[in-house]
Amino acid sequence: MDSAIERVVIVGGGTAGWLTAARLASSPRAVAGRLSVTLIEAPDIPTIGVGEGTWPTMRATLTAIGIGEGEFLSACDASFKQGSRFDGWVTGAAGDRYLHPFTSPPAAPVEELLAAWRAGAADQPFAAAMTAQAHVCDLDLAPRQRAMPDYQGAVNYAYHLDAGKFAALLASHAVRRLGVRHVSDHVVAVARDGAGGIASVATRRNGDIEGDLFIDCSGHASLLMGGHLGVEWIDRGDTLFNDRALAAQVPVAPGSPVASQTVSTAHEAGWIWDIGLPGRRGIGCVYASRFMDDDAAEATLRAHIARVLPDAPEVPARRLSFPTGHRARFWEGNCIAIGLSAGFIEPLEASAIVMIELSLGALIDNFPASRAAMEIHAGRFNELFRYRWDRIVEFLKLHYVLSRRDEPYWRAQRDAAHVPPRLAEMLRLWRDQPPSAWDFPRVDEIFSAASHQYILYGMGYPVPPGLVPGERAAALLAENRRRARSLAAALPGNRDYLDAPRPGIDAVAAR
Ligand SMILES: Cc1cc2nc3c(=O)[nH]c(=O)nc-3n(C[C@H](O)[C@H](O)[C@H](O)COP(=O)(O)OP(=O)(O)OC[C@H]3O[C@@H](n4cnc5c(N)ncnc54)[C@H](O)[C@@H]3O)c2cc1C
Repeated sequence: MDSAIERVVIVGGGTAGWLTAARLASSPRAVAGRLSVTLIEAPDIPTIGVGEGTWPTMRATLTAIGIGEGEFLSACDASFKQGSRFDGWVTGAAGDRYLHPFTSPPAAPVEELLAAWRAGAADQPFAAAMTAQAHVCDLDLAPRQRAMPDYQGAVNYAYHLDAGKFAALLASHAVRRLGVRHVSDHVVAVARDGAGGIASVATRRNGDIEGDLFIDCSGHASLLMGGHLGVEWIDRGDTLFNDRALAAQVPVAPGSPVASQTVSTAHEAGWIWDIGLPGRRGIGCVYASRFMDDDAAEATLRAHIARVLPDAPEVPARRLSFPTGHRARFWEGNCIAIGLSAGFIEPLEASAIVMIELSLGALIDNFPASRAAMEIHAGRFNELFRYRWDRIVEFLKLHYVLSRRDEPYWRAQRDAAHVPPRLAEMLRLWRDQPPSAWDFPRVDEIFSAASHQYILYGMGYPVPPGLVPGERAAALLAENRRRARSLAAALPGNRDYLDAPRPGIDAVAAR
């Protein structure tokens, strides 16, 4: 019972499963030969195949796994993501748009920055005043020059990627370079150990596979955590109404511009994502089935594609339904749920893959030395991730609560009965003072005070009264304007950056 944790068994080979396998197999414990990693993946149960927007955390994740940036960009047809732009979210009128960039406002008290913005740069949107990144995004520029070391940029950035190619790259890297054992088979049963944990999983053709720690990455099936261990599901659909998506991949003409941010365009009962990759745009309609039927969603998606890509060929759209919520616990006994098996909330702000990365960071930094220590780790992990799910729900809801759109869906979003009490309390507080680290005090907050400031003031929330502009804050905003001009001259366009040959790397990626 008190033996060391040496064998990790992962069930599922989507983004969650392969990221988990690669992160664990490249951890110091595995490199020292004290941990083996096995991944079991049903060959005929498809992965969800979407999930194209990441967070800046992905740069540290890829570094830890040992994949170079050029190889990653080539193998995943990836592009740079510098934030999210929200079109039509406030009123739906022409020109209604704001940006949530990845680069934080300058390092100065936010009260002073807000006062300086109102006093000297009120003609600029909040994000444009706070960071030069807004200008970089407007011009479709890359966040880095090619000569910079891997994963370093002039501004903060993440990626857009082809989800299928990303899982394939991770799989090949994990098996070929990190020694992960890959079992292509169905898990059909689970055997318990004497302590109520899992001793082994039974597969169709490869018999029982034993382990000390089991990671459930089986997607919405949640085979181990939900199915076998019966950990309760907490539904959050009462707060966030969207439960369907239609996903299309639209080819683009060679040489066409590649956007620097995800564009989320609001519609009468949800929103449309638009993610630019070098060879195609991923465009999808997210909607609430309670307010819009599937045919209307398809028409909304097609009309959007016709507007933004008038010459695009007709492409099929994949229909997806998703539950909104998460497990009550994410670590139970010797099993941890990571990815969709732990939960899913609509993809606004792309919080799913970053939750996988955060789960892996927490696990690797606190890897249980023995079964006896697991209960302590499980308690901490569950408390931390329940906190994170609650903050994600509130942050996403913020985008809806601040809207002034007048369709039934949007009015229902603002109904106090559907607003989490903590969010309502924060909104009251933010009338008197801007969001600060006092409101988001944890290490590795998934959405920082800066993210909340970008949404609040991007959507026109009133700036607290009585703020006094300081000279230092005004100088920092002036410096942002200078930096925007110098970055515009120094950074290459996304298209130029991504199309330029990467000697040695493209040949490897093509194999
Ligand atoms: C519409 C939509 C848009 C999204 N956009 C984003 C985004 O922009 N950014 C973001 O971060 N996230 C996004 N996500 C979420 C993201 O796609 C997922 O979090 C991510 O792909 C991880 O999925 P997964 O690996 O947990 O599950 P899946 O991809 O579903 O993989 C499940 C795996 O389990 C295996 N499996 C199932 N049953 C068994 C069994 N019995 N035996 C063995 N293996 C089994 C399957 O074969 C598969 O390999 C989006 C999701 C949706 C629905």
